[in-house]
Amino acid sequence: MIIVMTSKATLKDREAIVKRLENQGYMVDISEGKERTLIGAIGANVENKEAIMNQLSTLPYVENVVPILKPYKLAGKEIHESTEFDLGRGVTIGGRDILVMAGPCAVEGQERILEIARGLKAAGVKVFRAGAYKPRTSPYSFQGYGLAGLKMLDKVREETGMLIVTEVMAPRDLKHVEKYADVVQIGTRNMHNFELLKDCGKCSKPILLKRGLAATIEEWLLAAEYIMKAGNPRVILCERGIRTFETHTRNTLDLNAVASVKHLSHLPVVADPSHGTGRYELVAPMAKASIAAGADGLMLEAHTNPGEAISDSQQTISIKDYRALKKQLAAVAAAVGRKL
Ligand code: PEP
Ligand code: MN
Repeated sequence: MIIVMTSKATLKDREAIVKRLENQGYMVDISEGKERTLIGAIGANVENKEAIMNQLSTLPYVENVVPILKPYKLAGKEIHESTEFDLGRGVTIGGRDILVMAGPCAVEGQERILEIARGLKAAGVKVFRAGAYKPRTSPYSFQGYGLAGLKMLDKVREETGMLIVTEVMAPRDLKHVEKYADVVQIGTRNMHNFELLKDCGKCSKPILLKRGLAATIEEWLLAAEYIMKAGNPRVILCERGIRTFETHTRNTLDLNAVASVKHLSHLPVVADPSHGTGRYELVAPMAKASIAAGADGLMLEAHTNPGEAISDSQQTISIKDYRALKKQLAAVAAAVGRKL
């Protein structure tokens, strides 16, 4: 439920109500508006909710009590309008600035990723992406450097000052990924891995949650809800394309979903036009379209020499391409009241 406090409610009134709700078994989330404070109360195991709501609505400092109707109670917009949070080193997401995360599909070796990161950093990119644990379709394909790859990413972090986003595939690896990453990525294939989601809810780092390749928007938001309910409020939603009947593109980047989740959820949303299209020539137009549709950021596969990329070379742009794209993205961002 949401408890709307009157404009005259004091801090003491708020504390009293929070204490009362917590004693009844609710998880409480406070949202301070310009005029009023809203208290969100989620009580999965609370009985007699209706009676509690009725009692609360009679309090003099409570203006109104409304039930949260959406199944995703913490991720939904009923609790907050929008959320901006820090990813580390002063880099934030969810505010006016558009955040770009870029890098190769996989960690390809120490020197190679350092060279790519230096190029991207010089082009203004603040977050470096690369997978140490790779979810490959074929078990015969390169599976990633694992823990050794995380240590290579740590060197990139140390040398360039960039933040690192990298994927965790299995709960057993989370402790390592949590240690070396600034943002922990859950890939499309694991969006339904509820045990991994719950573990990421206990993680101290923000989570970038990719949409399952056949997940509905509601399933995606409920996956975010798993992480938030387990205690981690810093979730970034990432649209990375869904599977459709179309074969020209690897996936269909669902910009409906970008606009929809901005409408349904307060969480920051990023788009991944690399996996969303599977074609490097479509990355720039779909990146621009993503910003126009309301995305708070982009995840891009970029490389100093895309033709040599170990994985996903056909959807990887060069750093030179990124420099050109950046100028166009800045113009689109400005047109929709954002900044890049
Ligand atoms: C990735 O970003 O490296 C990746 C594997 O993406 P997805 O989970 O969207 O396929
Ligand atoms: Mn990839």
